[in-house]
Amino acid sequence: MESIVQAWSGVLEYLHAQPDISDVAYNMWIKCIEPLGIEENKVVLQVHTDFQRGIVLGQYSGKIKEAFQQVLGIPFEIKVISEETHEEKTVDDPNFPSAENLFGKRSSDYEYSFENFIVGNSNKFAHAAAQAVALKPAGSYNPLFIHGGSGLGKTHLLFAICNEIKKNAPDTRILYTKGENITIELIEAISKGTMAEFRAKYRQVDILLIDDIQFIAGKQSTQEEFFHTFDALHQANKQIVLSSDRPPREIATLTERLRSRFEMGLLADIEPPDLETRIAIIKRKAQLLGMELHDDVAEYVASQLKTNVRQLEGVVRRMQAQCMLGGERPTIITAQAAIRDIRNDDQPVPITVERIITEVARTMQVSAEDIRSNKKSAAISSARQVAEYVVRYITSLPMKEIGQEFGGRDHSSVVYAIQKVEDRMATNPSFKGLVNDIIKNISDN
Ligand code: ADP
Ligand code: MG
Repeated sequence: MESIVQAWSGVLEYLHAQPDISDVAYNMWIKCIEPLGIEENKVVLQVHTDFQRGIVLGQYSGKIKEAFQQVLGIPFEIKVISEETHEEKTVDDPNFPSAENLFGKRSSDYEYSFENFIVGNSNKFAHAAAQAVALKPAGSYNPLFIHGGSGLGKTHLLFAICNEIKKNAPDTRILYTKGENITIELIEAISKGTMAEFRAKYRQVDILLIDDIQFIAGKQSTQEEFFHTFDALHQANKQIVLSSDRPPREIATLTERLRSRFEMGLLADIEPPDLETRIAIIKRKAQLLGMELHDDVAEYVASQLKTNVRQLEGVVRRMQAQCMLGGERPTIITAQAAIRDIRNDDQPVPITVERIITEVARTMQVSAEDIRSNKKSAAISSARQVAEYVVRYITSLPMKEIGQEFGGRDHSSVVYAIQKVEDRMATNPSFKGLVNDIIKNISDN
C-alpha cells in the first residue's frame, strides 16, 4: 500500500459527499482523523480523544470502510486509536477492570512505562515519586498528587505506576479511572441508591489512581462521598494516586477537608520540559517507532514546540508517516511540514453549546434536559443561568442565539440571566469559583 495518505484524501471526499453526513459532523468528527498506516489488513486511524474515537467507531466506521472499498477497490477493516491514551478501546468495565484489560490492548511500541519516560529537570521529581510509589505502594507518599499542564506526562506516569506494579505484583488490585468518570458514577449511585456497590467497588482495591481529579469539582455531596472513600482507603493503608492540571489549592470548588487530604501526601508538579529534554523525548519517540532521525531534525523540532510533549510526539508520528511513503529519513523540510500540521490541528475541539450544558449540568448536578426545559425550581434556574452565562462568555454568541439554544428564550431573559450570574459572582466567591472551574474544565478539554 504505497500511499495511504493519498487514498485518504479520496476517502474524505467520498465521506464529505455523503448526504447522511452533515457538514458539521464531517468537520467535527471526520476531517481531523489522521491516517497512520496499514497494519495487516487494517487501516489504522488516529483521533485526538477517546470520546472522538467512540463517535468514529460507533457512527462512522461503516461509512469509512465503504469509502475505502470505493477508493481502493479492496475491503479494509479499520482500527481507531486515540492520541489521548493510545488505547484502541475504551475501558468501560463497570465492575473491576483488571490491569490486563486496561493495558493489554495498547500497542507495545508506545507503552507508557518508566523506561519510556524521559527524565529531565522539569519532571524528575514527579518521576521519582511515581517510581517510589510503584516500588512500595502506601509507603511514604500517600496520596501522591501529580499536577501539571496538559500533555506533560501525567497520564503516562499513572499508567507507568500501574504497569510496574502489575509486573512486580500481578495480584495487586489496581483501579485506574478518570475524575470525570468517578464523578458521573458517584452521582448515579447517589441517585439510584446504589451507594453500597459504589463503595464496594472503590474500597476493595489496593491502589486507586484517579486521573484528572479536577473534574471532581461539583456539589458538596459528591465530594463528601469521595472524601469517605478516600479516608477508607487511606486508613486501610492503600495507595492513592491523583493527577490534576492544577494543584489542590487552585481547584476552587474543592472542599477544605478534601483539599487538605490531597495535600497530606506528596505534591509533585511537572513543568514543560527544557530544550535538552525535548530533544531526548523526540529521539526516544522516533526510536520507538523504528525511525532514524538526524540530530539536526530532532533539535529543530524541539526548538519549535516548547510546551507540550503530546505535540512533539504527534510531529514524530507524522514524520514517520511521511517517510514510510517517501522512504527517506526526515529532513528539516519534513519536520516543518509536520509542525505546521500539528499547529493547525491543535485547535481545540470545537466547544459546542451542548458540551457547555453537559458540563454545567454535571457540575451543578441537574440534568441537561432540565437546563433546556422550562422548569423553574431554584437549582435548575440557577444552573440554566450559569449555562447561559458560560455560553456567552466562551462563544460570544449573540444573546438572541443563546436564547434559541435554551429552548427559545427571548433576548431579555438571557440578558437578565447573565446579569444575575455576574452579580452573584461579584458577591459570592465560592459561586465565582464554581463558575470559573466550569469554564476552565470546558476550555482545557
Ligand atoms: P497529560 O496526562 O499530562 O496530559 P500524557 O501523559 O497524556 O499527558 O502525555 C502526552 C504524551 O506525551 C504521551 O504520549 C506521553 O507518552 C508523552 N510524554 C509526556 N512526557 C513524556 C516524557 N517525559 N517522556 C516520554 N514521553 C512523554
Ligand atoms: Mg492525561
